[in-house]
Amino acid sequence: MESSSAATVSAGPGPGPAPADLLRRLRARGAADPVTHVERVPARAGVPAPWPSWAPAELRAAFTRRGVVAPWQHQAEAANLAYEGQHVVVATGTASGKSLAYQLPALATVLADPRATVLYLAPTKALAADQLRAVAALELEGVRPACYDGDTPRTEREWIRRHSRFVLTNPDMLHHGILPGHAQWSGFLRRLAYVVIDECHTYRGVFGSHVAHVLRRLRRQCARFGATPVFVLASATSGDPATAAGRLTGLPVTAVTEDASPRGGVTFALWEPPLLPPGSSASSPVPPQATGEHDELHQVRRSALRETADLLADTVAEGVRTLAFVRSRKGAEVVAANARRALDDAVPGLGDRVAAYRGGYLREERRELERALLHGDLLGLASTNALELGVDLIGLDAVLICGYPGTRASLWQQAGRAGRSGQEALAVLVARDDPLDTYLVHHPEAIFGAPVEATVLDPANPYVLAPQLACAAVEAPLTPADLVLFGEGAKEAVDELVAAGALRQRPTGWYWRHRERPEVDLRGEGGAPVAVVESSTGRLLGTVDGGSSHFLLHSGAVYLHQGVSYVVDQLDLADGCALVRAEEPDWSTHARDVTDLSVVSVRSYVDAGPVGMFLGEVDVTSQVVSYQRRRIATGEVIDTRPLDLPSRELRTVAVWFTLSPQSLALAGVQPADVPGALHAAEHAAIGLLPLMATCDRWDIGGLSTALHPDTEAPTVFVYDGHPGGAGFAERAYGTAAAWLRATRDAIAECGCETGCPSCVQSPKCGNGNNPLSKPDAIRVLDVVLANLPD
Ligand SMILES: [Zn+2]
Ligand SMILES: [Zn+2]
Repeated sequence: MESSSAATVSAGPGPGPAPADLLRRLRARGAADPVTHVERVPARAGVPAPWPSWAPAELRAAFTRRGVVAPWQHQAEAANLAYEGQHVVVATGTASGKSLAYQLPALATVLADPRATVLYLAPTKALAADQLRAVAALELEGVRPACYDGDTPRTEREWIRRHSRFVLTNPDMLHHGILPGHAQWSGFLRRLAYVVIDECHTYRGVFGSHVAHVLRRLRRQCARFGATPVFVLASATSGDPATAAGRLTGLPVTAVTEDASPRGGVTFALWEPPLLPPGSSASSPVPPQATGEHDELHQVRRSALRETADLLADTVAEGVRTLAFVRSRKGAEVVAANARRALDDAVPGLGDRVAAYRGGYLREERRELERALLHGDLLGLASTNALELGVDLIGLDAVLICGYPGTRASLWQQAGRAGRSGQEALAVLVARDDPLDTYLVHHPEAIFGAPVEATVLDPANPYVLAPQLACAAVEAPLTPADLVLFGEGAKEAVDELVAAGALRQRPTGWYWRHRERPEVDLRGEGGAPVAVVESSTGRLLGTVDGGSSHFLLHSGAVYLHQGVSYVVDQLDLADGCALVRAEEPDWSTHARDVTDLSVVSVRSYVDAGPVGMFLGEVDVTSQVVSYQRRRIATGEVIDTRPLDLPSRELRTVAVWFTLSPQSLALAGVQPADVPGALHAAEHAAIGLLPLMATCDRWDIGGLSTALHPDTEAPTVFVYDGHPGGAGFAERAYGTAAAWLRATRDAIAECGCETGCPSCVQSPKCGNGNNPLSKPDAIRVLDVVLANLPD
């Protein structure tokens, strides 16, 4: 860094350098230009609309007092649709004012009809509490808004049920408390006019599928009391929000997606850390596992953490107030520490103007850090994610995003912290060593163009449907009409519950036979969680979900918890706990598994000549059989030790493609290279699936083989890692051509020679990333894409 630039540090939040100039100086630092794309997202003036004529003067006045002069166009459009009785989803950007879109029709109705009630659902208690404050601040006569969740004192609950006309809760409380207690809620449900579902994109996968049925149970109870509420949903921008909202509610939903709120301009740069010079060491500044970064892979690129730390130091030296988002807490600390060191080297004491959000900080301490950054006492802050930050921390000069945060919604949420009114700001996405990040920095249209990533869920999952039908049957006997309400698979699930002795069929419907209610956890999956216990103290460190426990907590495993290293002495599967002791060995451990997959049935397929594309049910059997110990510093393998763990079975949904051996030979893939080609394509395809569906690559598994007994051909399988499937494989099948084209491009566009974590290596490979052939993976995908219809 040039020390001269430090002289420009300003004491307060004065205007920083123009983003374009700042970016020019940042990218001129190294030999190769790391910037793959610069997008100027222009400032946008808001488009206001008149207040709807049906909105009572009292309500308009209340909003005006809170500073809302007029609704934006999209708020008015959604509010009008909802008021007319249409189910509507507002899918617009962060801070675009989605709450006004549902508050307007809901509160207008509550004011006009002294009996009407509103139920508001948020994924978290904190968001519900925020909304309660917003509605209460309007000070409207007779609304009596109230939160009803696990924290609500028993003494207040009855009052809320009887008198509140705007109840704010979460799906868990609806499932465990309100629906089972529907008799006590009959007055409220009978008069229910609106159901508001905020942040509905968070209801995805297995959890989303459960929530979908909780909402059907709610609709059923309302119908019994003669109410047919209108559903208003708010979503982050996503691909096809109407379909996702329709699946969630089981109702036809109209989408409003045109964002008419104002925003500041931002210069958004995509940044790919350079390849390291051949022969140089890629040792990470901290044990890689501790940062959630990939470890023990063949790293050929400069790490995103180092790159972000340098950028943070450079922007701070320029006097620019900068917020850096890093995916892990340890990573945030490393970024802040490295930036401080670089700044202190340049100008002693300058490092003090950078801080990290450290674990264990109290809420007040965090707010103090935010205040210091807003006022310019602090110039750089490294943090894990936007949700922990206060809502007021906006208007920064620059935001650095270390690694794609998983969804477009989170990306824009983080970038949205930059930019003051009337002033341009800089946002930089620094790609991590990961195929999805590689793809994104080479395909800006995936970030700045129309969204393709959709929220997926699968209400027909039998592992969700059957327990939910059991809950419904306790609330009221199931009738044939209910089978229609609960949708595809409901009849089969009811038959199974009858066969299992849980339901009894009578002329008036299906009745729950037991005295106890079924225990159904909306967020639970993959078996009971395993408790991690420190043996010397008996202290519970945390839990690991059952599905990952064999991988992470086998005896001898080095397990990292909040940056502290533990060694597992014993994994007790019967008791569901792992006994660990604090120890910091100089090796890491890596479990190996053997996976078998058999096809149970084919739901749908595309016959494309030498290529076949399939969607269906599969049985996956996997067993963790051994683990390797490797030196942290060098990656050298110390030894491989056997493990004696039971195998586990998973019935789930998979997408798979087959290729004829002839087509592979024609494309120049030698028979000996077929396994490595398919394996490399499988890894990258799993890495790119989050582009099409909101999921994590850890939600998905894969298997590839040069000859599968069920398909009798070279095959790549990608399956949902959740019993019964969660909609991910289904989405992959539905967008197969686009998904595999992105996969192919990510591999081809990575500048490495023989494959690296940015393209075909996977941090969760059970085979130690062997064999892998990068060039042949491209050939395989070219054959698939040449034959598969778009
Ligand atoms: Zn690569
Ligand atoms: Zn693998």
